[in-house]
Amino acid sequence: MSFDINQLVRENISKLQPYSSARDEYSGDAAIFLDANENPFNSPWNRYPDPRQKELKKEIASLKKISIDQLFLGNGSDEPIDLLYRAFCEPGIDNVISITPTYGMYKVAAEINNVEVKEVLLNESYDINARELLEATDRHTKMIFLCSPNNPTGNNLNKEEMIKVIERFSGLVVLDEAYIDFSPGKSLLPTISKYPNLVILQTFSKAWGMAGIRLGVAIAATPIINILNKIKYPYNINILTQQKAMEMISSTSKVKEWVSIILDQRTLMEHELTNLPFVIKVFPSDANFLLVKTNHARYIYEKLVEKKIIVRDRSKVRLCEGALRITVGSPIENQKLLIALQNITV
Ligand SMILES: *Cc1c(COP(=O)(O)O)cnc(C)c1O
Repeated sequence: MSFDINQLVRENISKLQPYSSARDEYSGDAAIFLDANENPFNSPWNRYPDPRQKELKKEIASLKKISIDQLFLGNGSDEPIDLLYRAFCEPGIDNVISITPTYGMYKVAAEINNVEVKEVLLNESYDINARELLEATDRHTKMIFLCSPNNPTGNNLNKEEMIKVIERFSGLVVLDEAYIDFSPGKSLLPTISKYPNLVILQTFSKAWGMAGIRLGVAIAATPIINILNKIKYPYNINILTQQKAMEMISSTSKVKEWVSIILDQRTLMEHELTNLPFVIKVFPSDANFLLVKTNHARYIYEKLVEKKIIVRDRSKVRLCEGALRITVGSPIENQKLLIALQNITV
């Protein structure tokens, strides 16, 4: 593999002179700040947030056992996904490879940026084959998107195959680990310093219970992180988000407890759902949701809606024909779902 970040980045981005904010130009402590046209009243909300999120990054870097300059924070994972396209893919010329089925945002972000997505179908066990992915690339392929545990299939992708892709592809491999906290020990994060072309996405939206504050994380070699920082909105992580994330990170015991409850409930629900007469199969899950195959997906979906229980109908997705994607909820929510399902006759 020959990987050269300077050859990969778009020329206009490489030449770009980024916006320099007041807080970029002076980031120390002071008694009086009269440099950013802020309102002197309504403290602390009157001040712009730290554009580099120094304090928060220090905590997250130590949590993830990486260095601060390997870390980018975004407005959800959506932001680094979009920025990666904008940094590396020339609209109308470059393309990316994505597995399918997978998370829909990779394709939407590609389409917004006028970048072609070449889809490579997962195999019968919802897994990848490195050779197939690599054979789908051409000289305009800038990124390969992988998602493990994958959404909506729920399973981890084969680690050896992922590593083959990373080692043999000369563009970026973006590995989305949004659900990794439900799948202990399987993260590729410990290998991040070894691979200059690997970008790992994680998020505070799932195991951390903070989808509402919009905080996503990209971890990669410093040259990639520097490019993302260069093109992001200057104040992309607001004060409320930075404060709430600091608060949650300072006491991780609650998060561990939630994950443990969700994992117990996942085992229970997998068993209970399998016993329903109209369920053909419950796929094994390494995430906080279950993919459930039936012959009556739309009917069951609508019956549940009548009872104000909403699941995700994935029955029109390739390889997920007839499947519903069901998030593992609280014990009470799961019981209500089971009772509702047991009362459905198809
Ligand atoms: C839920 C999810 C995310 C999280 O996105 P955010 O923008 O961080 O909330 C990312 N990737 C996948 C595959 C997901 O399912």
